[in-house]
Amino acid sequence: MSLYSQKFYRLLYDWYDSNHRVLPWRETTNPYFIWLSEVILQQTRVAQGLEYYHRFVSTFPTVEQLAAAEEDEVLRLWQGLGYYSRARNLHKAARMIASNSQWLTANGQANVFPRTFADLRALPGVGDYTAGAIASFAYNLPYPALDGNVYRVLARLNDCDLPFDTSAGKKYFHQLAEELLDRNHPRQFNSAIMEFGALHCLPASPDCATCPVQAFCKAYAAGTAELLPVRKTRPTLRDRYFSYTIYITPERKTLIHQRTAKDIWQHLYEFPLTEHPSEPEWLNYHPTANSQLSTLNNSQLSTLNSKLAFMHILSHQRLHARFYVVPVNELPTLPDTLAVTWEELDDYALSRLTLKALETFS
Ligand code: SF4
Repeated sequence: MSLYSQKFYRLLYDWYDSNHRVLPWRETTNPYFIWLSEVILQQTRVAQGLEYYHRFVSTFPTVEQLAAAEEDEVLRLWQGLGYYSRARNLHKAARMIASNSQWLTANGQANVFPRTFADLRALPGVGDYTAGAIASFAYNLPYPALDGNVYRVLARLNDCDLPFDTSAGKKYFHQLAEELLDRNHPRQFNSAIMEFGALHCLPASPDCATCPVQAFCKAYAAGTAELLPVRKTRPTLRDRYFSYTIYITPERKTLIHQRTAKDIWQHLYEFPLTEHPSEPEWLNYHPTANSQLSTLNNSQLSTLNSKLAFMHILSHQRLHARFYVVPVNELPTLPDTLAVTWEELDDYALSRLTLKALETFS
C-alpha cells in the first residue's frame, strides 16, 4: 500500500467515523441479515428499507425460517416495496441455502450460509455488487462492492466519463475499484466509501468545499464533478394500457385475481384487468354506475373514478392504468377470480399499482 493510499484511507475513515448513519445491517456480521438488507435496499430508500428490514428479521430470524415460509407469506411481507422478483429470488435462494450443506467455514466446518464470493454469487438474485457486499461486510473478504454511490465517487476521483452502465464501463470501473480497495480492511473501506457517496459526494451538488479527499479528486481539479458519472441513454419504455374493474357489493365484497403469466407481478393479486393493445378511449370505456346499488351517487362515483387514473413506471414499461369502481348487487361470474371482502384484501400480496389505487380510498 502506498503512502498516498494510506493518507486517502485515513481521511476517508475519519470522515466515516464522524458522519456515518447508525444502521442495523452495518452493526452486524451475520451474513443472512446483511444479505436481507442488501436485497431490500436495491431500488429502495434507506428510511423505507429500514422498516422492511426489521419486519423480515423479526418474522424470519434465520435463513431456515425464511426457507420454510410459503412464497405468498414472503410476498405479503414484501408488499409495497415493488420489484417483486427480488422477494421471489430471496425466497428461492433461502431454500437453496437451507437445503445445501456444501458450504464450509475457513476451518472446514459445515456452515449454513455460503462463505465465498463464488458461492454467494451463485445464489439467485445475487450479482457482483451483493456478493461483494456480503463477502466484505460479513467475512471481511477483499472484494469491492460497487453500488450507484461508489460508481459516482470512482468516476469523480478518476475524472472518468466512460458510461458506467455499459459492459466496457463496468469492467473499467471494477478495475478502478479493485485498485482503490483497502485489502487490509475491506469491511471498513466498503462501508466508508458507500456512505461517503450516499451522504457527501452527492449526485447533484457534491459538497466539494468541505470534502475530506478533495486533494485526491481529479474531477474537482478539472471542474467536472457535477457532470459525472455518465450513463448511456436510458432504454425506451414500452407503454401498456390497463383498465381495472373494482366491483363492490352492498356487503363490501369484491373480485380479485392472481397474475399467473410470466409477466410483471407474477403471483401477485389485483382487480380484474382488461389490457388494451393501444391507448383506449378511456372515457367511452367508463362503465355506467347504478346509483341504487351504492351509497355513492353517480356524481360522487364519477369524482372517485377520475382520481383512479395512474401512470406507473417500471424499469422497462410505462403503465397507464385506470380503475373503475362498479357497484353491483351481486358479483359477476368471471373466470379465475376470487371473491373477497374489502377487509380481506389485506391478506393478499397485491401489486404496487393496486395498493396505490387502494390508498385513494383511505
Ligand atoms: S471533491 Fe467533490 S466530487 Fe470530488 S470526491 Fe469530494 S465531494 Fe466528490
